[in-house]
Amino acid sequence: MASCKFCSENCPKESGKRSSKFFCSPKCYLLFRTKKQEENCWLCKTAVRKDGYSSLKIDGKEVLAHRLSYQIFKGLIPSDKLVCHKCDVRNCVNPDHLYLGNDSTNALDRQRRNKSTCQTGEKNHRSFLTNQHILDIRKMCEKGFSSEYLCKVFNLKYSHFTRIKNRQIWAHI
Ligand SMILES: [Zn+2]
Ligand SMILES: [Zn+2]
Repeated sequence: MASCKFCSENCPKESGKRSSKFFCSPKCYLLFRTKKQEENCWLCKTAVRKDGYSSLKIDGKEVLAHRLSYQIFKGLIPSDKLVCHKCDVRNCVNPDHLYLGNDSTNALDRQRRNKSTCQTGEKNHRSFLTNQHILDIRKMCEKGFSSEYLCKVFNLKYSHFTRIKNRQIWAHI
């Protein structure tokens, strides 16, 4: 019986060659590999792929770190949704920076990212809103999501959020 490298709990699994086996849970594995910056991005240090996303091997299967984080901290990912970053840092796994988007959101993100491919967490710790985010925010308001929830998800100050909602800013969309 080995102990978890992150929380020191006894691991139910035999430690083996696969690195995920040194941890008691995918959560411990993810957090061990992550450099936390309070309030900012949690950068996952393992295998940052060519496309900028970071991946972990869980029981021999490659999983994307930000999707894993979403599942651990927030819950299931509906099959028609993608996990998107509002901070624009692809290997960031801070659950507060992740939101469920659709294809169009992601395509828009991709377009924006192509302009500057080399980005660091430091540059991107502020919330960065796109047209699609604004549309999502307003749609979610209509669907009855609470202001507190939306402020948290989109990392907005309440005053900023109300101005978006009341079309005092971003009035053109
Ligand atoms: Zn553990
Ligand atoms: Zn982030």
